[in-house]
Amino acid sequence: MISLSYINLFFNTVKNKYCWRTNIVVKKSPYNFFVMGLEGPDIKGGFEIRRGNMELNQEQKERYNRHIILPEVGLEGQEKLLEGKVLLVGLGGLGSSAGLYLAAAGIGTVGVVDGDCVSLCNLQRQVIHETRDIGSPKVESARKRMLSVNPGININVYREMLTVENAVSLIKDYDFIIDATDNFSSKFLIADACHFSKKPYSHAGIFKNEGQLMTVIPGETACYRCVFHKPPPVGFVASSSDTGILGFLPGVIGTLQAAEAVKYLLDIGELLTDCLMVYNVIKTSFRRVPVKQNKDCPLCSESPSIVDLKENHA
Ligand SMILES: [Zn+2]
Repeated sequence: MISLSYINLFFNTVKNKYCWRTNIVVKKSPYNFFVMGLEGPDIKGGFEIRRGNMELNQEQKERYNRHIILPEVGLEGQEKLLEGKVLLVGLGGLGSSAGLYLAAAGIGTVGVVDGDCVSLCNLQRQVIHETRDIGSPKVESARKRMLSVNPGININVYREMLTVENAVSLIKDYDFIIDATDNFSSKFLIADACHFSKKPYSHAGIFKNEGQLMTVIPGETACYRCVFHKPPPVGFVASSSDTGILGFLPGVIGTLQAAEAVKYLLDIGELLTDCLMVYNVIKTSFRRVPVKQNKDCPLCSESPSIVDLKENHA
């Protein structure tokens, strides 16, 4: 049964960008979609009526109120989030904050992938897990915590590591992938699998006091391999278990990854594409390093050397 509709009024002073919009709920509108526009040399405006595919109940309207009253989201945007599907690969420091914000935002379906169990030394930064979860599978403690934040979403649990065998089948049903892994082989596997499956993804990584992230839209923007051609030799880069890590560093970066997923689903704002955002937790600095599609990229150039996922990750 479809009964929820909106009137979006928009008025532009800058071409193609609205400066004001509002949502008015209209019950039982006869229109599926109707737009009327006005355009002049200095003015552009009009209105559209849309009928949504779902009806938010009173609890949802209250839960998502701060989204709904935001012009950039509105009821229509909240519906998009509730219909959205995000796959979160890795439930460590990055995945903890990303998972909690995805749940809170009302992403309708979140897949969580991790084969590990919770250990005591995780809890200093992996805030999705609790002390009583020690020894339990991370996917289970994350699912429990995310549903506790928001019981109205679906969590698909994959208690396994991402491998070359399961990567494509795991990502195929999702709209956006979050790479919250902590090792290079997984990061390159996600980058390659997303490229071949044409799935947008957020890459992130942490090293010592810095975290970095970039968003990739395959076929449109620079990819992970445009920047980092191939994984460094095993053991070349120390892990956080060797170097230590301030717990809130991956929390900040994972939160930004959730923001990228939400913005992608809403189709609003600027994504972190064609740039690498680097956050230094000691200096409290954010740097945007511009990156370009690399004509010699082994993955996304016109003559790539990587043409088969299984061959390259055997
Ligand atoms: Zn590339």
